[in-house]
Amino acid sequence: MSSSEIFSLKDIRRTYKVGSELVHAMDGLDLTIEDREFIAVIGTSGSGKSTLMHTLGFMDSPTSGRMVFEGRDVSSISRGQRALLRASRIGFVFQAFNLLPRLTVLDNVLLPLTYSRKKVADKRGAGMAVLERVGMEHRSRHTPNQLSGGERQRVAIARSLINEPRLILADEPTGNLDTKNRGRIMDLFSSLLDEGITLAMVTHDNEVAQYAQRRIRMQDGKIIEDERG
Ligand code: ADP
Ligand code: MG
Repeated sequence: MSSSEIFSLKDIRRTYKVGSELVHAMDGLDLTIEDREFIAVIGTSGSGKSTLMHTLGFMDSPTSGRMVFEGRDVSSISRGQRALLRASRIGFVFQAFNLLPRLTVLDNVLLPLTYSRKKVADKRGAGMAVLERVGMEHRSRHTPNQLSGGERQRVAIARSLINEPRLILADEPTGNLDTKNRGRIMDLFSSLLDEGITLAMVTHDNEVAQYAQRRIRMQDGKIIEDERG
């Protein structure tokens, strides 16, 4: 594998058994993600986009196939090793923000550090630093319901950055936002790419997909189009 490759999936299958039927959520999928790439994943509902994201995020294991992450074969690593990679190398951003309503913005951002042995003051410093990166440091003591949708998503992005991930996975991150906030979130992602992050993002929105350098289209658990530029 080339040194600029960070993730490669080969002939990946993910089969669900529903009653007596088999659902092939991924059906022989091949994908190589290069370092610092921005990939948009598009395709109709049910085509396997979320299953792919869960696989890349070590939240779900394929039924078969080969996965190499950062030069290491991770096809059959243990649950614990997967959890460790998930926590240390991957950031997640979801359509519904998934912030805890009773915690302040800062405490939401610090959630992934719950089991970290860092000192409290260092954690808070790191939390404020990622809030600054997304332009939300002035709202650190607010709770999520005191923020707009766009602001909530910026906080969720800050949370995804707290462990300094290599790869950010975003599933419809702008799905709940108006046009103006959509643009802001995409500008923020662009600045993270400049800082060295790699990004894979599911979207239904053609305009949003245009921000990416590469668009892959899924259908029936396969990639049927892979377009750069
Ligand atoms: P997308 O995100 O593109 O809408 P998904 O990855 O969520 O698609 O789903 C792909 C296919 O796998 C769909 O047909 C879906 O119904 C099926 N599927 C996803 N998760 C499960 C599950 N936990 N059990 C059974 N079938 C599932
Ligand atoms: Mg989905």
